[in-house]
Amino acid sequence: MVKPKRATSDPVEIQKDTDKLVRFLGMYCDAHHRHRLREPFQFDHPKLPAKVPKGPKLCAECVRLLRHAIVMRVLCPLDPKPKCRHCPQHCYRPLYKDQMETVMKYAGPRSILSWKSK
Ligand SMILES: [Zn+2]
Repeated sequence: MVKPKRATSDPVEIQKDTDKLVRFLGMYCDAHHRHRLREPFQFDHPKLPAKVPKGPKLCAECVRLLRHAIVMRVLCPLDPKPKCRHCPQHCYRPLYKDQMETVMKYAGPRSILSWKSK
């Protein structure tokens, strides 16, 4: 079997995807949950390559979703990882899957410009 050039179990790719998730949740929570109690998001698990030393402010619900998303991303067994939308596995729990779809629909189109300029 030929190894793909950009293995997605690569810590660099995992960190990139993590940063994207953090940005998306940050945008979404900013727009929808400003009235809630929010704390700066942090993620630093010694066994996981994804690190978020200083994330945006998030409410408790978005923190749960983001933690779940990061862990699922790290644990994704598929390599190269397909876009989750096209994935045959659907590893997210149904509640999180619905929430993430809502977040993606909101933040995806709004972040295209900032991706391209990177
Ligand atoms: Zn929120």
